Amino acid sequence: MVETPSKVLIVEDEPALVDTLEYSLRREGYTVLIAGDGPHAIETARREQPDLVLLDIMLPLLDGLDVCRILRQEMNTPILMLTARSEEVDKVVGLELGADDYMTKPFSMRELKARIKALLRRVRLDRETVAVAPALAPDVPAARMTFGDLVIDLSRHEVVLAGVAHHLKPKEFDLLVFLARNRGMVLSRELILERVWGWEFDGGSRTVDVHVRWLREKLERDPSDPQRIVTVRSVGYRFEG
Ligand code: CA
Repeated sequence: MVETPSKVLIVEDEPALVDTLEYSLRREGYTVLIAGDGPHAIETARREQPDLVLLDIMLPLLDGLDVCRILRQEMNTPILMLTARSEEVDKVVGLELGADDYMTKPFSMRELKARIKALLRRVRLDRETVAVAPALAPDVPAARMTFGDLVIDLSRHEVVLAGVAHHLKPKEFDLLVFLARNRGMVLSRELILERVWGWEFDGGSRTVDVHVRWLREKLERDPSDPQRIVTVRSVGYRFEG
């Protein structure tokens, strides 16, 4: 089966960087779209439904943080943020914007391409896993995991707690699924990072802690005394079924 080339939307206002990115990504076989400011980015994303958005933070008219927030409400397209400073990284991670990954400028084009590939592959794998799992194990309701009043619905990418559906961001959902699939096992932050974020991700294990905190806020009766996602001191986390 010949795959249609993935469509990447570059949102960046520095012409030199746009040129470099466009050239490199076209050479990799991607279809490239370009937007030079925030409103144009949103308009292009809505119209073209790209497979991935490469999003600079400092943009004219509407900055990348707002663009990310708006796009995230409308689509599941993976978003890779380009940040110029480490304070911006904190914003991306801390504001719960829903970006899937980020890179700090200056970055190596090689690494950027690896991250893009990894994000696109993960999206594809997610789709395949959902589609394929029931066929591989027809006797196991693989598309759904139930733990007491917590139901993780893999096919709908939805979590229902005591009858109430909760929206999780893509990474939160991936993390929860990974923890739940390995319930009862102590999982180190490093392993979680590698399996959920991929080996190319170098954001550090704080990312895991931040996402666990968000999950607890949504899924624990008392987030300060978690019963589902338990901290294992100096190692990592364990999901209690
Ligand atoms: Ca910029």
